[in-house]
Amino acid sequence: MSGPGVHLGVLLRAFVRARWGHRFASRTALMAWQDEQVQRFVRGPLRQAPFYRRLAADRLEQLPVVDKATMLAEFAAFNTVGIDLDAAQAVAERAERERDFAPMLPGGLTVGMSSGTSGRRAVFLVSARERSVWAGTILARTLPGSLLRRMLQPFAAPVRVAFFLRANSNLYASVGSRRLRFEFFDLAGAMPPLLARLAALQPDVLIAPASVLRELAQLQTEGRLTIRPMRVLAVAEVLEPDDAQMIEAAFGGAPGQVYQCTEGLLGQTCAHGSLHLNEEFVHFEPEWLDAERTRFVPRLTDFTRRTQVFARFRLDDVLRVEPRPCACGRHTLRLAAIEGRQDDVLWSTALGGGPLQPWFPDQVRRAMLLAAPHFADYQLEQDDAGIVVRLLAPGPGAEAVVRCELGRAADAAGLVCPAVRFLPFEPRRATDKRRRIRARIRTIADQGSVA
Ligand SMILES: [Zn+2]
Repeated sequence: MSGPGVHLGVLLRAFVRARWGHRFASRTALMAWQDEQVQRFVRGPLRQAPFYRRLAADRLEQLPVVDKATMLAEFAAFNTVGIDLDAAQAVAERAERERDFAPMLPGGLTVGMSSGTSGRRAVFLVSARERSVWAGTILARTLPGSLLRRMLQPFAAPVRVAFFLRANSNLYASVGSRRLRFEFFDLAGAMPPLLARLAALQPDVLIAPASVLRELAQLQTEGRLTIRPMRVLAVAEVLEPDDAQMIEAAFGGAPGQVYQCTEGLLGQTCAHGSLHLNEEFVHFEPEWLDAERTRFVPRLTDFTRRTQVFARFRLDDVLRVEPRPCACGRHTLRLAAIEGRQDDVLWSTALGGGPLQPWFPDQVRRAMLLAAPHFADYQLEQDDAGIVVRLLAPGPGAEAVVRCELGRAADAAGLVCPAVRFLPFEPRRATDKRRRIRARIRTIADQGSVA
């Protein structure tokens, strides 16, 4: 394999470990092994970062919870290579401006910039070793068996992977060999040339944000694109059920999901279609949002990364748990859904009165799905005055149907439906993350979580 700073040996070891290693007899065994890894990490590698050297804690529980703002404010204290925020940002900005992701810091370090949906853009550091592990793990965990066998046959055609992502880093442009071609499609560019390249590549695996998959599925349905990927994976955005249906209809297979962010590769769909968290690399500490313990905001500790360290790092995501074990035999936690960011959660009063209660995005999405035959797409936002809905190409009576479905869904959740008003749909740029639902009012953090 070639490419800037990818270590073939490291990649293959990660591949083998992710594909065949880390087998545990039970969830208890997995958790015991993980606890040992985490505590060893806390007492060892984590202390290479100045922030943690000062604390000199012996157990994870003694560490403070940190978030993106904390980390950006003291960037150099959270990495082990002494790089400050200005230096990292300068490299990331140059790479992004020039659409050339070759610039790296000394030592094969990559700087990535995350296209956050709100607030400050985050930069992150990844070493060549970590990048190789990332590539090996993602391939091992997502390739179907038939493609895996083909990849291992010396005379078969290489496995071709098309990866659509917006403004990122050379993290994603880095894997290519005779057995495997990994092509990066930069969404900041114009779509027609990307489509021509995609058709020429004829990928076996197609990886893209959910909203881009939806566009590609639309083109495929209209006969303007003809590809036959064996595996389709959604990254970087919530995969909404209606998009999943459309993608499946166009490409003939249910799309899987890759759950990742600047904080690493956090989970992916297994061969049995379940979304598993990567608890073999990352410890997830739940901040429960409801008394029934169905949804949580995760605090993650990545006990495998050594360059920029993440310990008790609080994400904004709301995850919904699937408690039943998976037929694939892995004991890692299954997610029923990644519901979105915590500021996708709407708020309303209970029918019986009392303080504001969360109205979870999947409940709102389901209502909009029921009304979906009456419009092409939607955006929904909550502000102090209520809910603003923007419909794309609404048919006759669409507004009344939406009002009715939202009212029913709120009722089913035991909530008073906030006032609903309608405004024109706002077109989205290809480089924007799609967020259909967002709340501009109180957040879970203000409310405090359920112990
Ligand atoms: Zn599974």
